[in-house]
Amino acid sequence: MTNAAQHSDPLGIALVRLNDVAGRMKLEPGITEKLRYCKRCLIVSIPVKMDSGDVSVFTGYRVQHNVDRGPSKGGIRYHPGVTLDLMKAMAMLMTWKCAVVGIPYGGAKGGVVCNPKEMSLGELERMTRRYTTEIIDMIGPERDIPAPDVATNPQVMAWIMDTYSMNKGYVVPGVVTGKPISIGGSAGRLEATGRGLGFIVRETARRLKMTVQGARVVIQGFGNVGGAAAHLLWQMGAKIIGVSEIQGGVVDEKGLPVDRMLEWRTKNGSIGDFKEGERIPRDKVLELDCDFLLPCALEEAITEANAGRISAKVIAEGANAPVTPEADVILDGKGVVVLPDILANAGGVIVSYLEWVQGLQELYWSEDEVNSELEKVMVRSCNEVWDLAQREKASLRMAAYMLAVGRVADAIRLRGIYP
Ligand code: NAD
Repeated sequence: MTNAAQHSDPLGIALVRLNDVAGRMKLEPGITEKLRYCKRCLIVSIPVKMDSGDVSVFTGYRVQHNVDRGPSKGGIRYHPGVTLDLMKAMAMLMTWKCAVVGIPYGGAKGGVVCNPKEMSLGELERMTRRYTTEIIDMIGPERDIPAPDVATNPQVMAWIMDTYSMNKGYVVPGVVTGKPISIGGSAGRLEATGRGLGFIVRETARRLKMTVQGARVVIQGFGNVGGAAAHLLWQMGAKIIGVSEIQGGVVDEKGLPVDRMLEWRTKNGSIGDFKEGERIPRDKVLELDCDFLLPCALEEAITEANAGRISAKVIAEGANAPVTPEADVILDGKGVVVLPDILANAGGVIVSYLEWVQGLQELYWSEDEVNSELEKVMVRSCNEVWDLAQREKASLRMAAYMLAVGRVADAIRLRGIYP
């Protein structure tokens, strides 16, 4: 890992955030140094027979940041912007996320540099199976457990689980989470990140003496996370007044029909051509006046370039790293409350943990049981972060990092440095 302390890239940002919290907590320099580096990084070449008969070679990564609190856990991303440094940054975020919500995992991330929108289902399956085979020695139910991230879904998890199981010679459902329910997935996993985000918004509204009922909400990204969060908040009575996807933005001051938008997206693949509401450029959606803004697309959506124009009272980070440190300073100056990613979008990894536990016990729970356990963990973690922020007069991000890094540091002290 580089020593770059600049903020211009996700890894630089992750290191700046670690340095800030380490300084504030007066963490032992040796522990900070250990946490700056990823434990293990693998780069693989993935040759794939394309439908045309030609062979394309894709680059894939799997990175494990830290395993002091348990096996590593983290999603797999299929996107043209995947890089090794991005995977390192995201793996580090996963370490903090698992620690802040108190689940016994470390952090990992993986991805393949590809454009899944331009690939057929067959090409995606062959790429996934070869990628899995290339990283097979690194993953496993007691070692490192992948899950969905941008452009990967339960079907991709099923291919990974099948490929791993075929190579081992027996069925290993615990090697991935976010699987389809019929092969050991958990009820509630698909919507878990968005649902958890909804719980954090609700608890924050309570803390700030606001209400979700009637709140004006704007959401960037209408995929797994943004779509589920929109649906839950809409069901709670919030008005979703703006939504954007890569293809563009849709707004309606009276509130958008989230149910019809979700149906439309399932049929058409995007809400770009949705027939109701008014169309605006996608990046303008971020600047709408609202109570809650949920960036649920990709990292670095709110930077020093646009932070000054943000008109939300609260930002809840559904995506990983959507707000840069420079933007944090500007938003803080404007009195905007920022709910940090490692807390706000932890719902997915919490239900992934529940899926893993159910798989290991071969005992499956109802959706109500899963959702209520998710709610318990999210509410407890949200309260811990808010209470610490108030005690320490710190931002919610700093408080979340203090809890997370403190827990990982404790584990390192207890286990010691091997040998
Ligand atoms: P997804 O592929 O299902 O959806 C991504 C959405 O973002 C799509 O609607 C896409 O059109 C939109 N988008 C991309 N660039 C955009 C832009 N510039 N402007 C507006 N919209 C844009 O991905 P996802 O699984 O929902 O993940 C979204 C974010 O949440 C990522 O940062 C991911 O790391 C994070 N996350 C996902 C999970 C999970 O369980 N899936 C868990 C925690 C965090």
